[in-house]
Amino acid sequence: MEHRDKVRLLEADRRYVWHPFTQMKDYAERDPVLIERAEGVFLYDADGKAYYDTNSSWWVNVHGHAHPRIREAVNRQMAKMDHVMFAGLTHAPGIELAERLTALTPDGLTKVFYSDNGSTAVEVALKMSFQYWQQTGCPDKTTFAYVEHSYHGDTIGAVSVGGVDQYHSVFRPLLFGAHKVPSPDPRGRQDGDAEAAAAQALEAVRHLFEASAGEIAALIVEPMIQAAGGMILHPASYVRGLRELCTQYGVHLIADEVAVGFGRTGRMFACEHAGISPDFLCLSKGLTAGMLPLSVTMTTAGIYDAFYDDYAKLKTFTHGHSFTGNPLACAVALESLRIFEEEGVLEQAAAAASHLQQAAARLAADPGVAHLRGLGMVAAFDLYRDRDSGERYPWEERIGFRVYEEGLQQGLFLRPLGDTIYFWLPLCTTAAQIDDILGRTEKVLQRMS
Ligand code: PLP
Repeated sequence: MEHRDKVRLLEADRRYVWHPFTQMKDYAERDPVLIERAEGVFLYDADGKAYYDTNSSWWVNVHGHAHPRIREAVNRQMAKMDHVMFAGLTHAPGIELAERLTALTPDGLTKVFYSDNGSTAVEVALKMSFQYWQQTGCPDKTTFAYVEHSYHGDTIGAVSVGGVDQYHSVFRPLLFGAHKVPSPDPRGRQDGDAEAAAAQALEAVRHLFEASAGEIAALIVEPMIQAAGGMILHPASYVRGLRELCTQYGVHLIADEVAVGFGRTGRMFACEHAGISPDFLCLSKGLTAGMLPLSVTMTTAGIYDAFYDDYAKLKTFTHGHSFTGNPLACAVALESLRIFEEEGVLEQAAAAASHLQQAAARLAADPGVAHLRGLGMVAAFDLYRDRDSGERYPWEERIGFRVYEEGLQQGLFLRPLGDTIYFWLPLCTTAAQIDDILGRTEKVLQRMS
């Protein structure tokens, strides 16, 4: 890109654009990175400099950027039909994708409701669960349970079941009340025992249900990884335990796999680690391989049946969005699923994931790296000023922002969550690329000390 075009665009960016999750003062005072092109695991800025997309562009990208098969799928669909309304009409991409998803996801999830982002997939699950109980003789089940440090999106319902104070507390007066249960985070324990942390967290859920299950419609959880809350990993026993408790006390289980779905944890869906089926499954991000906005809320025939009646009984699920079931997005999602199948994506990613988990261990040589953890194509650690004495960086030092800035110098797009540094890699990342990313990260860490 010509230098003068870049300067003009950045000027207009400062003047007109308000970016998400961004303190805009940072923009006013620094030049943001203007990305012009993306291919494979790389992003290229306006000067042609390459950066590894180490967070898969906010956890969405699966097969790498600009995948030729995805591009062709968009073009094919565009030539036939762009967008049509999904109430009163239907179309092949929407039908075929629903059929495919019901075959792929855990047993019993046979109904697919479309929307267009992860937060909304969560809203749909909350509203469906709430309405289900209203229509099945349990009108007191009007509240929800959620896990401390969880993140389910930014719309009001999703924020109401969000447990990250930094994002959510300002909105508390606006939200519906919900019961918070402790996170199964092993980092707070002397022994660091994840199974013990999970058992303790499950005991708290049992206590809550014992006292209040009669008023709780559903419990929502991010299975295996609480992502935005700090890449908190928990064992499969925790997810299994939640399933058992929800079944025992008559509470719906909502699995929010918006972030972890589609192979990121090493299985197609994170619930598979625990061998469970939730009552609701929320998917987005990787659903279209990170190319177009689309989400689904999947549920069971039993829940669907509670809405299926004569119109005059007023049991319809009165919810929908302009872009529900967008045919372009559905066609892309279908093509992504074909790529998974025909190109052995999960098998290749398993080898890359095992390399990542082994190779990331070398980062522990840095005296600031604590609580190194990972699953599948996700690896994370907390950056301390001094791990051995337990000294952390003061909040005002914004260590995460410093890592982001130094990462850019080293050709890495890293976007830490506070002092938690993480990689959330596209499934197509090769072992050699992983080694290169880790080598560059070591240089970033050296600059922090
Ligand atoms: N649920 C989880 C677990 C997420 O990580 C996110 C986004 O990061 C969402 C929901 C919200 O998705 P979206 O940003 O598409 O609204």
